[in-house]
Amino acid sequence: MSPHKPAAAKRDEASPRTTAEMRRLLREMPKVDIHCHLDGSLRPATVLELAKERKVKLPAATLKDLIPLIQVSQSCQSLKEFLDVFPIILPLLRDARALERAAYELCEDCAAENIRHVEARFAPVLNATAKFTVEAALEAVLKGLERGLKDHGVTSGVIVCLMRSHSPKDNRRAFDAMKKAYRESNGLAEPGVVGMDLAGDEARYPTMEYADFFEEARKFGIPATCHAGETVGTANLRAALSLEVRRIGHGTHLMEDPALQQEVVRLGVPLEIGITSNVRTKSVPDLASHPVTSFYRSGVKVTLNTDYRGIIGIDLTHEFETAMHLGFSLADLAGIALDSVDHLFLPAADRERLRRRFEAESRALFGKANA
Ligand SMILES: [Zn+2]
Repeated sequence: MSPHKPAAAKRDEASPRTTAEMRRLLREMPKVDIHCHLDGSLRPATVLELAKERKVKLPAATLKDLIPLIQVSQSCQSLKEFLDVFPIILPLLRDARALERAAYELCEDCAAENIRHVEARFAPVLNATAKFTVEAALEAVLKGLERGLKDHGVTSGVIVCLMRSHSPKDNRRAFDAMKKAYRESNGLAEPGVVGMDLAGDEARYPTMEYADFFEEARKFGIPATCHAGETVGTANLRAALSLEVRRIGHGTHLMEDPALQQEVVRLGVPLEIGITSNVRTKSVPDLASHPVTSFYRSGVKVTLNTDYRGIIGIDLTHEFETAMHLGFSLADLAGIALDSVDHLFLPAADRERLRRRFEAESRALFGKANA
């Protein structure tokens, strides 16, 4: 039997007649974004305003000239080129007001396309200064997310990124701040720190070098995800699985190893896919070669995410539409949106509550489309 439930097929009855109608359904479909970098989600207009307020000189003075410098185009050659954008953005995010604004606007952008829950990740060490601590950075982001919940009804959590290129001391600072802020009960009522991630250049810094952090997180019951198999081979994927991560960031290179793919299916560890991100960072040679459809058909649990909505200039609706070009049906996508709720770093009762909300909303949406 197909690992994907026949119940989803019912939703296919809502076959929209036009592209515009399809886009509307994808936009209004309740969704979650579980792999979303806060710094990479900044709006270009906000970059300009933050620089002006902080009297930081940018390499461009107008939005038109700035966008090519902070948005990665289709001609981007590598992940390295992609990461070159951050030296422009990061210096603007080193005070509480800026981080709070970034988090708040992320909620606003999520609400605009019915993303009901977002897990925003960032590496607070990159935002900290001598006067602005890692703890204060976390607090500012949580404050922005709280306002986002109040004004836009978007629930959220924060995932703290350790960085592969950082010293053990810096990663310890981030880890300890995460541990202090983490509560198992962090749920839908209030944004909280909900888990950890490892990000950065996986080709240079193997996952196993950070094993102690993953083991410590597990000991304290803190859920972890890990960028792995995004840029090179499957060794980091294997390592992440052996460290019992709850999710894998990207994992595109899983396509190189069918046996490992079967193992991922057996373990039920979901992949946090960012299709356009993977194309732009050259994680895959081109869109047509993206393995997400093949993963899904083989029973791998996939989730669709923005990764860097600001830097790439996309939203999640765009990613869902792109998935359609790769062969997903509307029913598949509605199923993925719903099942992604099960992978959130939230207490089980909250995931269940959100899932019931999604089911009711989807029924209303597709019922209307059928009429
Ligand atoms: Zn990422």
